[in-house]
Amino acid sequence: MSWEDNVRKVVPYTPGEQPKIKNIIKLNTNENPYPPSPLVYKAYEETELADLRKYPDPVCSVLVDSIASFYDVKKENVFVGVGSDDVISMAFLTFFNSDKHILFPDITYSFYDVWADLYRIPYKQMPLKDDFSIDPKDYYGENGGVVIANPNAPTGVRLPLEAVEDIILHNRDVVVIVDEAYVDFGGESALPLINKYDNLLVVRTFSKSRSLAGLRIGYAFGCEKIIKYLLDAKFSFNSYTMNMPSLILGAAAMNDRAYFEETTDKVINTRERVKKQLRDLGFVFEDSKTNFIFARHPDRHGREIFDYLRTHDIIVRRFDKPRIDEYLRISIGTDEEMDRLIEVLKEYLGR
Ligand code: PMP
Repeated sequence: MSWEDNVRKVVPYTPGEQPKIKNIIKLNTNENPYPPSPLVYKAYEETELADLRKYPDPVCSVLVDSIASFYDVKKENVFVGVGSDDVISMAFLTFFNSDKHILFPDITYSFYDVWADLYRIPYKQMPLKDDFSIDPKDYYGENGGVVIANPNAPTGVRLPLEAVEDIILHNRDVVVIVDEAYVDFGGESALPLINKYDNLLVVRTFSKSRSLAGLRIGYAFGCEKIIKYLLDAKFSFNSYTMNMPSLILGAAAMNDRAYFEETTDKVINTRERVKKQLRDLGFVFEDSKTNFIFARHPDRHGREIFDYLRTHDIIVRRFDKPRIDEYLRISIGTDEEMDRLIEVLKEYLGR
């Protein structure tokens, strides 16, 4: 007998690389290429560092209020955490507490199976159709809960709201988590459904559309009861998940609607232009409604393209997994960065 027999052993999630090299074009972790709102800079300058001696507000009022006000919901409908990873992980712990399998797609955010393994939650992965779409009927059977990313990652494919509602309707006895990390780039949000279905949790992040991946802020919307259960679990785990600067700077970002709209529009416009350029180069992909494009080239393996780009100081993401190992996930950068990407790909393909 050894203490190691009783260790909670897990195979951890591998995050995308954060290279130390300067001047690399970094298109591998779906960050926003634009800096945070000017209001964030201003709030940073005005932040009273002397206050760091005190514990932060455990109920995160300033941040929760800014989110509630932006989305016109009650503060009792909002939960915040240290990135949406923290929010989703807390939701798994809170809501997926039965012996039945939870369900999520075979190709989706690769943290879901890691959390399920960590918390010993049984799960089944439902295969996406060949066009990477979700068939709601796959989620009709008995289960212990459902998680879908919409738009999905890494595919970029959007599920229409009627289909999301259909999944919720067929699962009224379990919690359905809809992970909307990328919704601001053209997805259809399930937020309007939170008062209609008490088993729905909609999760969002500041990491993509609010240009604040480094601050680590995620949030969720749900009916008052579901949020209360999440808060009970959070306060049984760690009262102070959110640090004081995150609360202040996050609220400042949320309050700048104009900047948010301007930068998401810019990313969307660049994405649409790059889609056309990639198609002209022979790449194939489903239509993305996110800040990345998940593409393959029929004549060259993704691994080769990945390596060529890497030697030309462009870094994208590749997953060594069944069904998707030929694909590259290319985050949308600035126009200049994407021009350089296209130029290097043209060289590579001899165009
Ligand atoms: N959900 C999806 C689908 C994601 O791609 C990501 C980003 N890796 C996250 C959640 C987590 O993002 P964060 O913790 O930065 O909010």
